Amino acid sequence: MKKEEKQTIYNLLKTAAINTYGYVPPSFCGQTPVFNDDEDIKDSFSNDQQEDKHNLSLEQLNSKMLRCTRCSLARTRNSVVPGQGVLNPKVLVIGEGPGYDEDMQGLPFVGKAGMLLDKMLAAIQLDRKTNCYIANIVKCRPPQNRDPLLEEQEACFSFLEAQIHILKPKMILCVGRIAAQKILDTTASISSIHGQFFTYLDIPVMATYHPSALLRDVELKRPAWEDLKKFKAKLDSLQ
Ligand code: URA
Repeated sequence: MKKEEKQTIYNLLKTAAINTYGYVPPSFCGQTPVFNDDEDIKDSFSNDQQEDKHNLSLEQLNSKMLRCTRCSLARTRNSVVPGQGVLNPKVLVIGEGPGYDEDMQGLPFVGKAGMLLDKMLAAIQLDRKTNCYIANIVKCRPPQNRDPLLEEQEACFSFLEAQIHILKPKMILCVGRIAAQKILDTTASISSIHGQFFTYLDIPVMATYHPSALLRDVELKRPAWEDLKKFKAKLDSLQ
């Protein structure tokens, strides 16, 4: 379908909704979506990646994220949380999505789980100020900290792909089930895949337990520590 045809259908639906309700319903209040021709979408690269291929900087990517209204999380968020860390990091850490503290501060992993994540990273000589970048699968907080819906993850995913393309991390550490399942394109449980090495776009990836899970169940600390030691050994072998 051509983008003009999609725009016409959108306009018709909006007019019908206004006539039905007598006011502009919330789903039509935001910015008009940007439509693309289906032909364009067939290209395996999304628009974001195409811009990225043409040297989108991290700052430009961040400002796109800050303006994003691709999914309904945009309506309930306080801040967008693009990520935090250094360019060309040794490690890109990928979590699930912002919680309350992250949504208030616009920074990833700054609550209780974040403090534990910082300790876990420090134990293997990593930190967000010098050699890591920390990002999430979704950049806006799901209400009541529920799991991000698959459509929310999908709407946000090209931002993460663009981050990986720009940042060029040596390795990726997924923390928790949501990040592991999305990056590894699997429905396997975190307990069945943690500590193993996979690749994503030729970058070595490991998944381990989410720090929130470690706060809930101390029994998971030992296996998580074993994962981190293996991860560090592999990282050292790459340098
Ligand atoms: N949990 C996550 O997965 N990400 C954050 O940024 C904070 C908590």
